Amino acid sequence: MTNPQNVASSTLEACARQADQHFVETFGCKPRWLVASPGRVNLIGEHTDYNEGFVLPMAIDRYVVVAADINTELSGKNSGKSAVFHSANLGGSFRVSLGKIKKSVPGNWTNYVKGVLAGFLEREFSLPSFNAVIQSSVPLGGGLSSSAALEVSVATLLEALLDTSILPKEKALLCQQAEHQFAGVPCGIMDQFSSVFGQEDALMLIDCRSQEIKPIAFTSPDVTILITNSSVDHELAGSEYRERRQQCEAAAKSLGVPSLRDVTLAGLEKSSTELGDTINRRARHVISENIRTLHAADAICAEDWNTAGELMFASHDSLRDDYEVSCQELDLLVDIAREIGVEGGVYGSRMTGGGFGGCTVSLVKTDSLASVKQTLSSRYLKSAGIAPRLFATRPARGAHVIRA
Ligand code: ADP
Ligand code: MG
Repeated sequence: MTNPQNVASSTLEACARQADQHFVETFGCKPRWLVASPGRVNLIGEHTDYNEGFVLPMAIDRYVVVAADINTELSGKNSGKSAVFHSANLGGSFRVSLGKIKKSVPGNWTNYVKGVLAGFLEREFSLPSFNAVIQSSVPLGGGLSSSAALEVSVATLLEALLDTSILPKEKALLCQQAEHQFAGVPCGIMDQFSSVFGQEDALMLIDCRSQEIKPIAFTSPDVTILITNSSVDHELAGSEYRERRQQCEAAAKSLGVPSLRDVTLAGLEKSSTELGDTINRRARHVISENIRTLHAADAICAEDWNTAGELMFASHDSLRDDYEVSCQELDLLVDIAREIGVEGGVYGSRMTGGGFGGCTVSLVKTDSLASVKQTLSSRYLKSAGIAPRLFATRPARGAHVIRA
């Protein structure tokens, strides 16, 4: 994980206050605009989004806040309009001319911002010169989608600066394009959709084919979502992600369908020998994960936490064995959660996000939250030698303007 010590305080109010202050320290005046967009956690439905399947994420109450103000001094006579962005988390700044935007080197954080600026300029919006400070309480690179939260926050800021709004779905897709074209990450729609459409008290069952979102009420005070950050990042994520996508495309092609969404487990079984062991297991994960996700949405609607939890454990097993995107540390956290079990207060747990590090998500009895956190922390520290970072969260509001 990048610079965890610089992740802002957890409440939105505190994060916004820090952004405000940081802007004053950096640019010497109070910012007019403050906007916020949340990270997300996916309860179930992993590696299904790019297979036109189902996902069940929620926005979390961790936000990327952007503070900004117009700066007329930046528009020199000959230099045209430009913007300066400062990341309080990374301690770096960059200036970008608001003409034709060029990508930075791969892996550079400025690409997420530039991609969104380019999307607005392509739509022929005329942006003013401005300064902005980014302050985030979403851990960077932890699988909670700080990248989409950053993109959506920049897009929300540009809407506010222009005193306009684009359709929420178009905004999410513009941000996804930014991630594809500028950051070079061929992500599905889940992250940006979650950050844009997040609502308090509901998960979102997203059909990644039709792009329809069905809210799944999550209001019971008896259960809590616990996120545990393994604090490891194996740097495999990018290349392995691409390989999994290619394997899924190859499986769909061999099976003669547009995507794995169109295959049943029985259909897969018939063709398993032609596909070969690896591709067969990849496809089996995707197909079974779609079934589990729909089933979990029903279970959550019925507040059947035992079933929802079992489906989360089964999802982890499938990601570990068939899709092979877990790692020792994530397996350890899920094993500890399994040992705690329903009696100890854990209904279910699984890795969340792309894999090879990052976080687990657990469905926990609210009454047992303190003891579950304690057991997870101490056993993980003892076995892995790393102190995990844990926080409880609830579904949170999507992107919005705090001050205009
Ligand atoms: P995740 O989205 O799961 O957090 P990614 O690797 O997709 O992980 O995105 C993390 C990257 O997004 C960071 O390495 C950085 O480039 C960029 N990013 C996210 N938040 C910030 C921030 N507050 N300031 C600067 N860059 C950020
Ligand atoms: Mg990301």
